[in-house]
Amino acid sequence: MSLKALPKVELHLHFEGAAPPSFIRGLAQEKSVNLTGVFNEDGSYAFRDFVHFLSVYEAATEVLKTPQDFARLTRAVLEESANHGVVYTETFLSPDFCGGRDLGAWREYLHAIQEEAAACERDMGITLRGIVTPIRHFGPEKAKETALCAAETVGDFLTGFGLAGDEAKGKPKDFDYSFDMAREAGLRLTCHAGEWGGPQSVRDAVRDLRVERIGHGVRAIEDLALVDELAEKGIVLEVCPGSNVALGLYRSFRHHPIEELRKREVKVTVSTDDPPFFHTTMTREYEMLNAAFEWNEDDFKTLNLAAIDAAFCDDATRDRVRKLLEAA
Ligand SMILES: [Zn+2]
Repeated sequence: MSLKALPKVELHLHFEGAAPPSFIRGLAQEKSVNLTGVFNEDGSYAFRDFVHFLSVYEAATEVLKTPQDFARLTRAVLEESANHGVVYTETFLSPDFCGGRDLGAWREYLHAIQEEAAACERDMGITLRGIVTPIRHFGPEKAKETALCAAETVGDFLTGFGLAGDEAKGKPKDFDYSFDMAREAGLRLTCHAGEWGGPQSVRDAVRDLRVERIGHGVRAIEDLALVDELAEKGIVLEVCPGSNVALGLYRSFRHHPIEELRKREVKVTVSTDDPPFFHTTMTREYEMLNAAFEWNEDDFKTLNLAAIDAAFCDDATRDRVRKLLEAA
């Protein structure tokens, strides 16, 4: 079986960040929105570094204005994922970009996304679940409004709560109110840390927000006591090697700590983060891991079984996807 066809589970995908450039360009044309500076001449997304990436990302989302736009985005993203063998995926959704954190508007966006995701599941056999993420650099007060949107819409589809955006802004503890609200509503928790922040940011997220998964978390490798703690506690890392390499965190896949973390028995999973921005796909991630560390089909199967175990979904969905992975 080719790595492309291998059934895959993805846990860390920013919804707007997964938008194919051609989709965003088409929408901009329809709406006569000027996206100067967003694209390179070859049509790919243009950015210099992480902070610039965040601003290009937000500019690209300017064309996504209505629930209908988000329904179309749902299909565009899931078609791309399914094309790379993804059978189950979770995506970060931000009420900031979907109705400006207004609960009534958010319900409409969520409904549109969920309905299209159900249609895609019927058409392509791919399952989508949503994780609401406040944007860290928008601050803790806006995060509370976002958490309220999440808490009020928790259900079969919306199952998680996280924290995205610029890790350099504020501390996880600043967001504890929002995370408490999400936890009490029954949402499962994850948080970006240990990408731009060092090991302490991972410690802070685990201790102050009591998350069960960490987005990235790879810089835990700089502190082996923390690595042991993550392994012991069974904290799952949503590792996005291609993203880390594209943003210059590591020189190449070969220099990426995912293999060392895995050897030290940390539960690692593999995702694409914002795939078109980082010129990657789930297939490419697997090919690069195969080339760098000789991971084979058995390694990928173990990886995907760990991912579905850590997925924020109900047990019936988990069992169904697990059977799919085991049968491959
Ligand atoms: Zn991310």
